[in-house]
Parts: sequence; C-alpha cells; structure tokens
Amino acid sequence: MDRYARERVNMVDRQIRARGITDQRVLEAMLAVPRHCFVPAPYRRAAYEDRPLPIGEGQTISQPYIVALMTSLIEPGPGDRVLEIGAGSGYQAAVLAGLVERVISVERIPSIASGARMNLERLGITNVEVVVSDGTEGWAAAAPYDGIIVTAACPAIPRPLIEQLAEGGRLVAPVGGRDVQDLIRVVKRGGKPEEESFGAVCFVPLIGRHGWQE
Ligand code: SAH
Repeated sequence: MDRYARERVNMVDRQIRARGITDQRVLEAMLAVPRHCFVPAPYRRAAYEDRPLPIGEGQTISQPYIVALMTSLIEPGPGDRVLEIGAGSGYQAAVLAGLVERVISVERIPSIASGARMNLERLGITNVEVVVSDGTEGWAAAAPYDGIIVTAACPAIPRPLIEQLAEGGRLVAPVGGRDVQDLIRVVKRGGKPEEESFGAVCFVPLIGRHGWQE
C-alpha cells in the first residue's frame, strides 16, 4: 500500500467509523476515493487530516468526516440521481459518484468548476456533470432528485431545492449564520418537508439569489 492509501485507511477508521458512521457503502466509498487528488499541491501532504483545506478563491474542501456524514444522511441508493450545490474540488461529488447513478454538481465560480471537472476526469469518473450556475436555483433540467447536498452555508434552505426534491427524497444543508450553521436534513414526505438537525458545522457561504449577497 502506498502512503496515501494507508492514510486513507486510518482516516476512515479514526475520523469516520470511530465517530459513528456505519453505512458500509459510504465507508467503502470514502476508502476508494483518493482525496489527495482533490487537494492543491501545497496542501497535499495534509489531505487525510481531520480538517477542511483551502482549494483557492477563498473556498475549501470539507473535512472528511463532514463529507461522510452528509453522504450518509442522504442515504444514497445505487439508482439515485443526486444534486450537489458547490462542486468545489469535486471530492464530495467523487464520493457520491461511487454510490449513486448520476450526480449533477453546480458551482458558481467557473475556474473552480474547471478544476473539479479536471480532477474527476483524471480519475475516470464519468457519472458526474459539473455545471456553472447559481445553485440556489437548483438545476431544474434534471429534477427531481432523490438526494440533494448543499456544501455551502445558507441563511435558509433555498426554496427551489425543496421543489426539486423527489417525494421521499433527502436533502442536507448547513443552515444558519455566516460563521456557524446547523446541519439540517429535510425529507420530503407527502409533499411536505420534514426537518431534523444534526449539530453545528462551519461552511463557506452560499452566494446567490436564494442565499447570501456577495
Ligand atoms: N463540495 C466541495 C466543497 C465546496 S466549498 C468539495 O467537495 O470540495 C463550497 C463551494 O460552493 C465553493 O466552491 C463555492 O464557490 C460554491 N458556491 C457558493 N455559492 C454557490 C452557489 N450559489 N451556487 C453554486 N456554488 C456555490
């Protein structure tokens, strides 16, 4: 095993399984995706540490545990179509790609979107489409979605995202202030969103029509 593969095994054991993530498919996906390939060269040695890392333009790749937690909260199934808001490095999308049928990932910063596409392409991941758009509007063209993951902090869950969630679909999003948020899961049942909270998290802001102002 190379150094990074060893670090990845430790990451999954100590940061993810040890904190209570038990979904075997999610653990396997976290083991399979080479996180260091999504981290800029100056931070690559820290790729498997228990923290977010800078990816340029003031944006970050989320902490591994948070990626695993959000992934498990949407209960990804093999036939699912999932929408991600905030492609960033493409790492979260790569983890999802191994678990579901198709991922659409929306990113507002074109250079970041190109980086995500390049990272995914290099690993031969073909079931993720990265689009440049304001993700607070969702991506109606491929709706409805079985799962939606918002990887930037929103003042409230953007209404278009609730509308684009399938019946029985699961959405996770950090909702709250610009500095600290609550990780919220919404499940759509009988057309109505049911909310549950999963604790405090810290994300960069979601900027757009139904998010924060720039
Ligand atoms: N999921 C990413 C991390 C995302 S960081 C990963 O795995 O690496 C949050 C990202 O959300 C940033 O890239 C930021 O540019 C993007 N973002 C912020 N507001 C957005 C919006 N309205 N629509 C789409 N992307 C947005």
